[in-house]
Amino acid sequence: MAEALGPFQASVAATRAVADNPRYLSGWYTGEKSAAVPARRDDVRMHQAYAVDVPRRPVAALEDVIGHERTSRVLGAAAEFRRAFHGRVVWNVSSTAAGGGVADMLQVLVGYTKDLAVDVRWLVIGGDPEFFRITKRVHNWIHGHAGDGGDLGAPELGHIRDVMSDNAASVADEVSAGDVVLLHDPQTAGLAEAFARRGAHVVWRSHIGMDEANELSRAAWAFLLPLLDGAEAYVFTRASYAPAMLSPQQVWIIPPSIDPFSPKNQWMDPANVRAAIGQIGAVAGQFGGPVCRYTRRDGSPGELRHPASVAAEALPGPDDPVVVQVSRWDRLKDMSGVMRGFAEHVAPYGPGWLMLVGPSVEGVTDDPEGALVFAETLADWRNLPPEQRSRVVLVNLPMADADDNACMVNALQRHATVIVQKSLVEGFGLTVAEGMWKGRPVVGSAVGGIQDQITAETGILLPEPTDLPAFGRAVRGLLDDRDAAETMGAAAHEYVRTHYVGDLHLLRYAELFGTLLASEARTGSRAVT
Ligand code: UDP
Repeated sequence: MAEALGPFQASVAATRAVADNPRYLSGWYTGEKSAAVPARRDDVRMHQAYAVDVPRRPVAALEDVIGHERTSRVLGAAAEFRRAFHGRVVWNVSSTAAGGGVADMLQVLVGYTKDLAVDVRWLVIGGDPEFFRITKRVHNWIHGHAGDGGDLGAPELGHIRDVMSDNAASVADEVSAGDVVLLHDPQTAGLAEAFARRGAHVVWRSHIGMDEANELSRAAWAFLLPLLDGAEAYVFTRASYAPAMLSPQQVWIIPPSIDPFSPKNQWMDPANVRAAIGQIGAVAGQFGGPVCRYTRRDGSPGELRHPASVAAEALPGPDDPVVVQVSRWDRLKDMSGVMRGFAEHVAPYGPGWLMLVGPSVEGVTDDPEGALVFAETLADWRNLPPEQRSRVVLVNLPMADADDNACMVNALQRHATVIVQKSLVEGFGLTVAEGMWKGRPVVGSAVGGIQDQITAETGILLPEPTDLPAFGRAVRGLLDDRDAAETMGAAAHEYVRTHYVGDLHLLRYAELFGTLLASEARTGSRAVT
């Protein structure tokens, strides 16, 4: 990839110190980047975007999962794309290289496009802590929540524009007229105009949204849309997420996808799962046993060598039934509500343990609320009656190695008897598809994309996310009827295979970009103005 980048190498070199910082690459540490970025001088931009390289992923391997017909369709579409887009580049721009659903998906999809010989690249923007505080606020408001209680007004808009103007200047020369720029999420919104001015086709993808707008979400969109001037198309996960002020002709609906071969979703045999959960330290008496081995994203062998940070008064045995929720420590994931629902409505009526699993909150993160929410969850756990507290385990997974982290998520989801995702608000909820892929029934709130993934055959939807007795009944029922849980799990796996594997995702993007090209042919709009 380095050779393919050509003229881009100057900006890559300028940010190498950041990219090489192991804490940064571990993800969730974006706030630290500013320490590694050179101080502003006249000739050095404060916030620079930099290129991320990802390993090639062989599309042929997908055939085992999606079958011959679907594989042929992707190969055919790629051939057509190469012909139509010859000499053009598709640029993805996101706010972090690792950690979270967007980075995970880009690692995979960009890797497949490499194998398909389509020129797709990935840039990650830089920003300061204030920038990430503001964009996290936008994220919360779009989900209808006030977040840190701060404002979104002219000073915040000004700060975003300043940071984005630095980022745009650091890479704009690399983007040519006719290229496609796919901006991901609110953090990158302020780049649309700069790239459109260069004659690129700009598409903005929101990975978040809320089914029913409220005052805060409307205010968030009013704040955000001026930053999106120049975008030709907008992609949302669900139709209901598109704000009313956008023209329906510009709106595309593309759901996310999972990769069956990533460390997070690849097959693990039961012995390997056991080795992993022993290494994590989440089950009794297993630490120091056999080593869990897996395949890293770049194809090299990986081994789990580090434990997680676990808060527990007792640990389940390796054969005890376990209920698992994997989430960021974010109030909208309602880890505390899951804990209360389990303690009051599951634990008193039969066996079973709850594991709440999230990323380590040590250090500075691009999710400034994570440490706070974990502390609140820990305090709620301490306040549980002892009998119930002893059946709840809080797990903070190390983030130093993104592949190890993913493998741990994989093992914990496979170890689960029931997976839950009791979010109060959700964009898509990749953890649901991930759990379903492992053949586990998922109990999830009927919010956002969770509603698209869980059907009556594949899991249980909770119409009211805060109805803890209903949550308890659903979970208890599945723990007590293992046959029903297994049947649901098998249907869940099939559902993900049919709807949420990456080939479908790539085909939808190809369709969208093809449409932009066709409109260019009609209007002749390729020149830099
Ligand atoms: N995740 C992870 N490690 C963790 C916690 C979460 O890799 O310790 C992943 C999780 O497996 C999923 C993603 O983060 O792939 C979360 O995506 P989702 O759509 O569920 O929620 P979001 O965090 O984007 O709101």
